[in-house]
Amino acid sequence: MKAAGEPSYRAEQLFRWLHEHAVTSWDAMTNVPPRLREKLAADDQVILNPLELDAEQVSTDGTRKMRFRTDDGRSIESVLIPEERSLEEREELGVGGRDKLTLCVSSQVGCALDCGFCATATLGFGRNLSAGEIVQQVYIAAARAGRRPTNLVFMGMGEPMHNFEQVVKAFSLLIHPWGAAFSPRRITVSTAGVVPKIGELGKLSPAPNLAISLNATTDEVRDRIMPINRKWPIAELLQAARAFPLAHGRKVTFEYVLLAGVNDSDADAERLPRLLKGMPSMVNIIPWNPFQGPQFQRPSAERIRTFQEILRRHGLQTFIRTPRGDDIDAACGQLAARAQPDVVQLRTNTP
Ligand code: SAH
Repeated sequence: MKAAGEPSYRAEQLFRWLHEHAVTSWDAMTNVPPRLREKLAADDQVILNPLELDAEQVSTDGTRKMRFRTDDGRSIESVLIPEERSLEEREELGVGGRDKLTLCVSSQVGCALDCGFCATATLGFGRNLSAGEIVQQVYIAAARAGRRPTNLVFMGMGEPMHNFEQVVKAFSLLIHPWGAAFSPRRITVSTAGVVPKIGELGKLSPAPNLAISLNATTDEVRDRIMPINRKWPIAELLQAARAFPLAHGRKVTFEYVLLAGVNDSDADAERLPRLLKGMPSMVNIIPWNPFQGPQFQRPSAERIRTFQEILRRHGLQTFIRTPRGDDIDAACGQLAARAQPDVVQLRTNTP
C-alpha cells in the first residue's frame, strides 16, 4: 500500500476484508476509497477470487464435499466433516471433546507421491496451490456451512510438505489476528513423510500440529505401498517425529490406513506401539476407503477392533476413523476431482 502511495493503514483494512470478512467483491470493501478499489480490480496481478465453487455434494451423514475450479481451469476438492464425538472420545478428551466441524483442505492439484491405496495418486501431479487458493477453500467452506470450521487439516489432495512455502504462508494467514484468527493448535499438517520438511515445520513459531501417515510397521511393506519410504524409511521418519517440538499436552498424530492382509496383522499391531514408544502420540486407524482401481480390501470390523485392542493394551491412544461421506466419494483418500456428471452444478462462489 505504501508503494502504491496509499496510507499504510489501508493494508490492515484490505487484510481484514480479505481474511476476516472474506468478501468476494471489491465493492464490499466499503471503507476503501472507490478509486483504489477500481485500481485493484483492474490490476490483473491481483486476483480477488482465485477459486470458484463449481460443485457440491452433501452426504447422508452431513459430510459436504466441495469442488473448486482454479483460474487456470484445474479442479480441487475440500471436505467439511461435522463430527459428533462418540461417548468414548468425550470421556477420553474431556472439555476438548465437544462437537467438531473439521475442514480437510487440499494443498496441491493431484499429488506426486503415488501411494498405492490413494485415489489422488491416480491423478498424478498437477501443480502446487497458492496460499490464496488454500485459504479460500477455508473461507468458502465456512460460508457454505454457515459457521467456521473448528479444525483445519491439510489432509486433502496433495502432499503439503511438497508445497511447503505456500502451505506455511496459508497457515500464517489463517492464524493472523486480523484474519480468521485460527488457533495454531486447531490446524494440522499431515505428511506421508518428507523428513527434512518435518524439521522445518517444527521450527515455526507457532507451529501447527503434525500428523504422519505411517500406514505400515515394516519398511518392506511401507516401501511397497508408499514409495516415499524408499527415500526416508520408517526409522528416519520416526526420528524426525520425535524431534518435532510439542507444546504441553500435544501429541503427534499417526494415521494408519488399514489394508486387509497387508498391514493389519496382530504382529503389526504389536510392532506399532514399540515404534512409537516414548513419543507423545495417538493413532488414527482409518479402514481403507475403496475407489475404482486398486485391489485392496478393507479389513473386517472384527479385525479392525482387534487391531485397536492390541494398541490399547499397550497404552496407545487410538481412534477408529469411521468412513465419512463415502457415499459421495469424500472419505479419506477418495478425493480425485474428476468431472462428475451426477453432482449439483453451482456457478457462484457466494453463499
Ligand atoms: N499427503 C498427505 C496428506 C493427504 S493424504 C499425507 O500423506 O498425509 C491424507 C490421509 O488419507 C493419509 O493419512 C492417507 O494415508 C489417507 N488415505 C489415502 N488414501 C486412503 C484411502 N483410500 N482410504 C483411507 N485413507 C486413505
